[in-house]
Amino acid sequence: MAENKIPYKIYLSENEIPKQWYNLRADMKNKPAPLLNPGTGQPLTAEEMGGIFCAELVQQELDDTTPYIDIPQEIQDFYKMYRPSPMIRAYCLEKALGTPAKIYYKFEGNNTSGSHKLNSAIAQAYYAKKQGLKGVTTETGAGQWGTALSMACAYLGLDCKVYMVKVSYEQKPFRREVMRTYGAEVTPSPSMSTEVGKKILAEHPDTTGSLGCAISEAVEVAVTNPGYRYVLGSVLNQVLLHQSVIGLEAKAALDKYGVKPDVIIGCAGGGSNLGGLIAPFMGEKLRGENDYRIIAVEPASCPSFTRGKFAYDFCDTGMICPLAKMYTLGSSFIPSPNHAGGLRFHGMSTTLSQLYHDGLMEATAVGQTSVFEAAEQFARVEGILPAPESSHAIRVAIDEALKCKETGEEKTILFGLTGTGYFDMVAYEQYNDGTMTDRIPTDEELAASIAALPKVPGQD
Ligand SMILES: *Cc1c(COP(=O)(O)O)cnc(C)c1O
Repeated sequence: MAENKIPYKIYLSENEIPKQWYNLRADMKNKPAPLLNPGTGQPLTAEEMGGIFCAELVQQELDDTTPYIDIPQEIQDFYKMYRPSPMIRAYCLEKALGTPAKIYYKFEGNNTSGSHKLNSAIAQAYYAKKQGLKGVTTETGAGQWGTALSMACAYLGLDCKVYMVKVSYEQKPFRREVMRTYGAEVTPSPSMSTEVGKKILAEHPDTTGSLGCAISEAVEVAVTNPGYRYVLGSVLNQVLLHQSVIGLEAKAALDKYGVKPDVIIGCAGGGSNLGGLIAPFMGEKLRGENDYRIIAVEPASCPSFTRGKFAYDFCDTGMICPLAKMYTLGSSFIPSPNHAGGLRFHGMSTTLSQLYHDGLMEATAVGQTSVFEAAEQFARVEGILPAPESSHAIRVAIDEALKCKETGEEKTILFGLTGTGYFDMVAYEQYNDGTMTDRIPTDEELAASIAALPKVPGQD
């Protein structure tokens, strides 16, 4: 089909929302390493996991052989409220850049939570409800995950307790209030309401918190309250599985017009949107059917892939969670208060870590100010005010398009636009005022937190 026939927005119909999630792990030759029990150093059993997570989610977490998993009808119905999400051809951005590259983005910000997080929130809340639980606990950084989970819990009538990273709780009061509007109980973390929170506050009284701290608190509350389980908005295999709806829709939309991306770009916090976006493309790559260049973009202030170590580490600061083998900066690493709250996790999805380790994808780190330059440029020509997290992907998409301008290559670039930035205006204010800084950890700081990685047999 002729290039100029491609519309600004490629919409799928409601019937084309995926009815199954795609489990990328089924096609991986080197499977992601199993989670370990920190006490025994042995792979976590389904029974041990069942104390923390809902039963069905434990099955999904451990399943690295089933390629397609049915999406329950109730979840499909919920998806219909805000999916399919649009695939947009960035004609205006291409023109502004003067690039021969063709740029597409999959926009996940068209729901009240403002991000892709709702895709997994509804699934996790659904399985908790199905198991007859009273409620769920979680952490949230910038607030998108907490908002998404609050929406899902309100829809299903589940109780929702959210531990919100203190710096975000204070910087982003509006997200906090959206959560409360949907009925969630929101506590700034670290807090005095948990043993682990008290311990962290005793050691670091001035801490602005981190996702790692908030996870420790939420897990503690889940395991000490009957009828509650813990849910996590990123990092875990089950979350990447749910987020595969992004990639499946993206591929279906591009396939309609015979478009094959050369480069696929996504921001990476814990890896869920990127893992979801790339899933069907990476599946083709793993099966040797097609090749794609895939780039993870992370903040220079929290560079897990580009400066971290591929090793077993705790997922949380309080060191009560299982050990995951991932690219990590060390669970004691507390990143500077970068505005992309959703990218402040010290580790990375075990699935993406394995793929990166095996050379199947690339990663790059970008500074905060250059990210906001890209965000502003994008907003002015494409109209959407992007989330700071998403703008990391925009930065690298623009850089790739500008390289095409130099070389004259007509590459097709696909990136994930994970959300909107309406609740991140304090960050935009600093950028507009010229007071934004780029805080990049020194080698010494990283060496210190990496040296504190747990001792695991077989790990140097
Ligand atoms: C949470 C979040 C991210 C990062 O999380 P991943 O699990 O790496 O996808 C990116 N963008 C937005 C808008 C988010 O809310």
